[in-house]
Amino acid sequence: MKKILITGGAGFIGSHLSDAYLAAGWNVTAVDDLSTGSRENLAGALGNERFELIEGDVCDDDVTARAMRGCDAVVHLAARIGLKLVIESPLKTLEANVKGTEMVLRHATPLRVPTLIASTSEVYGLATKFPSNEDDPITFGSPTKGRWSYACSKAYDESLALAHHRESGLPAIVVRLFNTVGPRQSTRYGMVLPRFVRQALAGEPLTVYGDGAQTRCFGHVRDVVRGIAALLDEPRAVGDVFNLGNPAEISIRDLAEAVIAATGSTSTIEYTPFDRAYGDGFEEIMKRIPDITKISALVGFRPQDSAIGTIIGDIVAAQRALLVTDTA
Ligand code: UDP
Repeated sequence: MKKILITGGAGFIGSHLSDAYLAAGWNVTAVDDLSTGSRENLAGALGNERFELIEGDVCDDDVTARAMRGCDAVVHLAARIGLKLVIESPLKTLEANVKGTEMVLRHATPLRVPTLIASTSEVYGLATKFPSNEDDPITFGSPTKGRWSYACSKAYDESLALAHHRESGLPAIVVRLFNTVGPRQSTRYGMVLPRFVRQALAGEPLTVYGDGAQTRCFGHVRDVVRGIAALLDEPRAVGDVFNLGNPAEISIRDLAEAVIAATGSTSTIEYTPFDRAYGDGFEEIMKRIPDITKISALVGFRPQDSAIGTIIGDIVAAQRALLVTDTA
């Protein structure tokens, strides 16, 4: 029986990936320090005898060495993410993202197992060409602006993974995840959609930052999990970088209106200046669209569950279910 190691396996994407690999008959080991992930995310997995949770930090040599034993594949998702966290604690972000990836790659290399490193659309920085393609040149903002520490740390992670592939033959794959959403995504770390849904269900104003004209492309976590699994299963994916997401673009203002409509909420929209939301000198990214030609051509990836109505419906149902549990 095959075994996969999922770092950040108790997180939002990691827990869905754990569930999917368990359902496919794999043994799954998750490593998570539970700093942003949770046991609740693993409610299904924890009851499965093929699932093991190692509570620890991937930056810890012993933890990663132990977790990696007997693995046939590795997915490295553990990272500090969420703009709010990144801006509040840039040092922790840089250290966790860089050291964690170094540790995972170092331990995976002698095993020669397919190792997928999660990167982010944030590495497209101040892109002006849309949709953005994996080979596009990248321009970041200045390190004096807090958000770019995250992009830098992930661009370094990408280079490191590719270097391990080239120099030591590690079958490494890099995936740039665009805005991924769905049930279990926490409302705590600033991500827009779970926040809007929580606000709408509570009858609170929806906090749109800026004038809401900025756009994003949201992909359902189920599609993202399918994309990750397909890449891991494709030997020709190694040594390469892939966008993974849904190319359909929506403005944040339209998103807020869609959430209000879907919930039947009486909430209004409250426009909040970026500086007030993220602190002085914040630099917003106004647009981000993935070109998914490469992943589509290689593994036939296409979003199936990422229509915005489906996404919002699933998140609303999940948050409503939690509200019922909380008040029960
Ligand atoms: N955003 C917003 N209100 C919020 C949280 C976020 O208007 O309460 C905006 C944010 O400024 C950005 C978009 O929603 O334009 C997506 O934000 P998120 O943090 O989810 O992802 P990222 O900025 O990393 O794409």
